[in-house]
Amino acid sequence: MTLLLNGSGVSRGIAIGQVRVLHEIQPQVRRKKIIASKRDAEVRRFRKALKLAEAELERAKSQLPRSGSGTISAILDSHVGMLHDAALVEPIENLISEHLFSSEWALAQQRDQLLAMFESIDDTYIKQRATDIEETIARLLKHLGSRRRRTTSTGKAVDKFILVSKNLAPSDLIYQEQRGLIGAITTEGSPLSHTTIIAKDLEIPLIIRVQYGMQLLEEADRLIIDGGTGMVLANADPLAQKSFKGMQRTARQRRREIVRRKVRTNKSLDQSKIEIFANIASVEEYNQARKLGAEGVGLYRTESLFLNREELPTEEEHLRTYRRLVTKVKGAPLVLRTMDVWSSRRLPGIEQVVPRSAQPALGLRAIRLCLRHPEFFRPQLNAILRAAHYGPVAMLLPMVSGVQEVREMLQMIDMAKADLKRQRRVFDQNIRVGVMIEVPSAAVSASLIAPLVDFMAIGSNDLTQYTLAMDRDDANIQPLLDPLNPAILQLIHETVKAANHSGIPVSLCGEMAGEPAYTRLLLGLGLRQLSMHPTSIPDVKHAVTQTDIAAVTRLSRAMRRAANPRKTQQLLDKINSL
Ligand code: PEP
Ligand code: MG
Repeated sequence: MTLLLNGSGVSRGIAIGQVRVLHEIQPQVRRKKIIASKRDAEVRRFRKALKLAEAELERAKSQLPRSGSGTISAILDSHVGMLHDAALVEPIENLISEHLFSSEWALAQQRDQLLAMFESIDDTYIKQRATDIEETIARLLKHLGSRRRRTTSTGKAVDKFILVSKNLAPSDLIYQEQRGLIGAITTEGSPLSHTTIIAKDLEIPLIIRVQYGMQLLEEADRLIIDGGTGMVLANADPLAQKSFKGMQRTARQRRREIVRRKVRTNKSLDQSKIEIFANIASVEEYNQARKLGAEGVGLYRTESLFLNREELPTEEEHLRTYRRLVTKVKGAPLVLRTMDVWSSRRLPGIEQVVPRSAQPALGLRAIRLCLRHPEFFRPQLNAILRAAHYGPVAMLLPMVSGVQEVREMLQMIDMAKADLKRQRRVFDQNIRVGVMIEVPSAAVSASLIAPLVDFMAIGSNDLTQYTLAMDRDDANIQPLLDPLNPAILQLIHETVKAANHSGIPVSLCGEMAGEPAYTRLLLGLGLRQLSMHPTSIPDVKHAVTQTDIAAVTRLSRAMRRAANPRKTQQLLDKINSL
């Protein structure tokens, strides 16, 4: 029977293959107590499981391919970090030694308690880390002898398969990919999960939140999935199969061709130079970015340095990471974004001082946190100033909401420079300082901010969230969270105009930048620098080479005034068909 299902495509590409259903069976843990004389032996048994789990993760890391595995390696590191996290380990040891629980029972208790806590947190990013906890505890249970059975339905060996499951842990994706997985669809999942990030890195089409009809899929079914549109087609007739195979072949050929031609082509049809940069979060990711044609790093998200650790990173630790990056980019531009963190992300040291905000996305975060508590920020600030001595590093300040904050930050930077001078450190006195325009008030004040800074970067993800007053992580609101809303396009346009007027560069580094269907529109709005996830670079570069900027400018202007979403879509289609 032919079936058409729909979900949310979060990793692009077409995959055609046979269904393989992944059933998850959580380990059965019995309530069991130990006798008092065995308590030390039981704690030792638990610690041995911790060691075995760590060794397993290190082994997995050492087997990763060298290039393009930065994100995966960072995720495995975060899992190792969890095994050392006192907040996870101490209560378990306590349950064993004080309450005489068996290791398994203590782990299950701690798991249930943490998952319940995660459930009550508003921040979707944090909520998604619950899967990491589940996975870590399942790993420990495995090393204690109780296995979480993740079975794929039996049946004959299938070489190339599309996994159908409720959810998919990052390690399952890596494991199954090595065994022939070419695509996956799930009923749960999130666009921000580690699984999604890895799927993008491995270029595996992934569709999440397929709402209806998943239970009808069986092993014998043949699926076509399109990770771009979220379409799932089961048992299509031979004609449809042939046509999707053709589309898949063309897309692959086009991609190969684009990757091959990448570096030479960064000019539009009318010969305007468009700079394409990468958004990365680890040093290793730059390898892949470079290979795919990035001209530098337009956004280095430094938050990963703060996660899963006991202490805040020291100035020297920051400096080590940034110097590694400087060496890696070999003179290409490198934009380091300062900490965009807030109190509800369990940050060592910070959460004790800053009370948890009821609405963290609107609370004391990023630049506001840095201004209020310079003690958290100074190590990073000093390290960025020092790293800039070794290469063309620029500093990018996130979540700026107006002129006054910019002035205060610039003062703080001057003070840090004076301190470094007194300490006789080498640093870059003339470091370029830019701001992210991602809060509507900053976009409206762009013409006042631009004269104070060296460059601006538009964060369209947050700009969309805050302009439309819609939580970017809330699944229920996703279809309405539209970056093509005329108000957003107008704010982007005004920001570009303000930057041009002050003669400073402006880039766009939100997810919009990596969407080739928006490339012409963004160039029409005046942007000449885009920064994106590395895997999007070849397609966006290709779109750039096919754009006549003068021709798309008029239609882009009309999109800023579109009366309704249907009109917006019509105009976008028109821009893309020129
Ligand atoms: C943005 O908001 O568009 C952005 C690039 O920053 P982040 O996604 O890290 O908030
Ligand atoms: Mg942002």
